[in-house]
Amino acid sequence: MSRFFSEKFAALTPYTPGEQPRERKYIKLNTNESPFPPSPKAIEAAAKAAANLQLYSDPTCKALAEKVAQRYGVSPNQMILVNGSDEVLNFAFMAFCDKDHPAAFPDITYGFYEVFAELHHIPYTKIPLREDFSVGIEDYIGIHKTVFIANPNAPTGMTISPAQVERILQSNPDNVIVIDEAYVDFGAESCVPLVQKYDNLLVTQTFSKSRSLAGGRLGFGIGAEALIADLHTIRYSTNPYNVNSMTMAAGYGVMCDEAYTQKNCQTVCENRAFVSDELKKLGFEMTESKANFIFARHPAVDGGALYAKLKEMGILVRHFEKPRIRDYNRITVGTREEMQALLDAVRQILEGNV
Ligand SMILES: *Cc1c(COP(=O)(O)O)cnc(C)c1O
Repeated sequence: MSRFFSEKFAALTPYTPGEQPRERKYIKLNTNESPFPPSPKAIEAAAKAAANLQLYSDPTCKALAEKVAQRYGVSPNQMILVNGSDEVLNFAFMAFCDKDHPAAFPDITYGFYEVFAELHHIPYTKIPLREDFSVGIEDYIGIHKTVFIANPNAPTGMTISPAQVERILQSNPDNVIVIDEAYVDFGAESCVPLVQKYDNLLVTQTFSKSRSLAGGRLGFGIGAEALIADLHTIRYSTNPYNVNSMTMAAGYGVMCDEAYTQKNCQTVCENRAFVSDELKKLGFEMTESKANFIFARHPAVDGGALYAKLKEMGILVRHFEKPRIRDYNRITVGTREEMQALLDAVRQILEGNV
């Protein structure tokens, strides 16, 4: 730390992103990216946009906003496009949390929520998941805090239903409830339709997982017009050109190829079922995941040791050295070939050959 760093950030522990090693070719099952390349329509559109990079991007993201809004059955004024959904989550902490509106989120969830709360000096409460890692809905009824829930949750992949979200919304009418749907396309039910009924709901989604655009950085938020207007106020006060023109074009291309997205999601779901069954046969226990990853432990192998051995063998998974979950690894569901390679490696490890 330099002697110039503001005291207000001195105690900040930044978010630790998953490893993105370049020194060796790994089978990457650690950051829940899509194993499939972007739609050819996205690649072509981005290349065309590259020819005009001397110009600023459209700060209103008009064409893409209309396209996404149409897909989700909302008006363009009910949505905001952002530089990865992390950005809209950051905006939400800035816009909807303060001393009188403290934040609340599960103890085991996306690590960025705590980082954003710390960054903005927002008081927060971590609400323990139940013993089985499910979200205890009762814990959020009438909590009178700004709630952040990933649905499906990370790293468990477990879901809550829109009916349960409605109970949280109804019992906290004076607080915003943020539902982070980064993984919703892999089999969970979206809360987007509820934005027409509740003025305190913000739903966030991303192009990083189901839409193969993690490197492009594109996400969005959907909510009541007034909520979205607040988020635009924050956006125009930080970076009005937050979505670059190549990414905007790529996103438009993706939205013109819904069949491609659907097919890839279906393949991931099939591979999730396959690898879950095979791992169970090998003695693994896992949560009921509706995301593009599984969260598993083996009674006979330490979680950290399994992570390290797989890494030696060229397979990267995600291990969190945290209470309650250090026995587990989060494994991204990839192609069938990647899942076969994972299973082969796990068998070797269990047989004591590695
Ligand atoms: C991946 C992820 C995000 C954000 O992804 P972006 O790449 O910033 O869009 C948000 N929430 C959860 C739970 C995630 O796993």
